[in-house]
Amino acid sequence: MHKKTIGDLPDSVLRGRRALVRLDLNVPLNEDGEITDDTRIRASVPTVRYLLDKGARPVLLSHLGRPKGKPDARYSLAPVACRLEELLGSKVEFVESTDTDEAIKASHETKAGEVLLLENTRFLSGEEKNDERLGRTLAELGDFFVNDAFGAAHRAHASTAAVAQHLRPAVAGLLMQRELEYLGSALAEPKRPFVAILGGSKISGKIDVIRELLPKVDAMLIGGAMACTFYKAMGLEVGKSLVEPDRVDMAKELIEMAGTRLILPHDALVATSLDDAGKAHAVARDHIPADAAMYDIGPRTAESYTRAILSAKTVIWNGPMGVFEKPPFDAGTLAVAQAMAKATKSQCTTIVGGGDSAAAVTAAGLDSAMSHVSTGGGASLEFLEGKTLPGVAALDDAALR
Ligand code: ADP
Ligand code: MG
Repeated sequence: MHKKTIGDLPDSVLRGRRALVRLDLNVPLNEDGEITDDTRIRASVPTVRYLLDKGARPVLLSHLGRPKGKPDARYSLAPVACRLEELLGSKVEFVESTDTDEAIKASHETKAGEVLLLENTRFLSGEEKNDERLGRTLAELGDFFVNDAFGAAHRAHASTAAVAQHLRPAVAGLLMQRELEYLGSALAEPKRPFVAILGGSKISGKIDVIRELLPKVDAMLIGGAMACTFYKAMGLEVGKSLVEPDRVDMAKELIEMAGTRLILPHDALVATSLDDAGKAHAVARDHIPADAAMYDIGPRTAESYTRAILSAKTVIWNGPMGVFEKPPFDAGTLAVAQAMAKATKSQCTTIVGGGDSAAAVTAAGLDSAMSHVSTGGGASLEFLEGKTLPGVAALDDAALR
């Protein structure tokens, strides 16, 4: 995964030349088409700024939403152009097409110090098919290629994969570089003890991560509803908790394979339903009432997970410990986030991956207290599964050091 980055490009490649930059500007919009969270736009600014400072002329590509391969005004990047211009403090010209002569002409006419943003790549039918011809046309929009869309790197699309076959150099942007460095070095050479924390609703979506990480970690702490599928495998009563009956056998296998490294919650915060949050109470894991469900790890578990995190040197976290959207079932998730923030201060590398986990950390105001919060939910998960990300594989390899 050692890839060339924009920092490796000499000034002769950058100055005055068109940088075709694939960004992840896939921001949430409300019904009035207003941006409700501009985190991804902010995260894209440093790379664009770097290119502008080096005298390059950035031509930006991104997807937004799921417009199904044809133009759909609800998913236009036009509002993003305005927000990007404010954040960047440089002019952002917007062209309402992507692979047209008009777009290519605009790419040649962009002035130094200005940025060109083209329309949503997913308006094009060839994008999600990784169409060869579309890749070739997109390549005409720049003189070299920069991929900074880590959040889209697990998809082989024309603007992340095919385009790079026709446009060299093809390098990682600053955000992509940071993602690969943090996630990559945590997996390749973690400082120990190395602790992974996994939660979320479904064990089925995380099996490959569990399998990949188990042999590498010193401890794996389990939370979320997936704990209940493990409980079931242990023969415990789980009441009305969310379990995946077809995954119970596999949970048994994982428990056997893991030995003492796999740690399940000792206690649970339970209630008869999510609407009955006022009557939530903690029980030992072998005392979950038949008419109740586990909606969070219990306080004893939160304490012992906190201790494990504070004694670690590398922590990777994916998946909330409970239904964090609904207090008091956010307590376990908050405890983990706070412990990680504290560990970061004493030289522990802390990494958060996964859309909901990242949202929980941000909502708690602790995102900047972590070493790294990944911007790519699905992409970070596939990375942790040990999979090759097509958007990364398509980039030039770094020179051997
Ligand atoms: P991420 O996006 O961080 O990878 P997931 O999407 O796997 O996380 O899981 C997040 C969801 O899991 C949240 O919506 C949360 O409410 C749910 N969840 C966590 N614990 C439980 C539980 N005990 N019962 C039901 N849902 C849960
Ligand atoms: Mg999620």
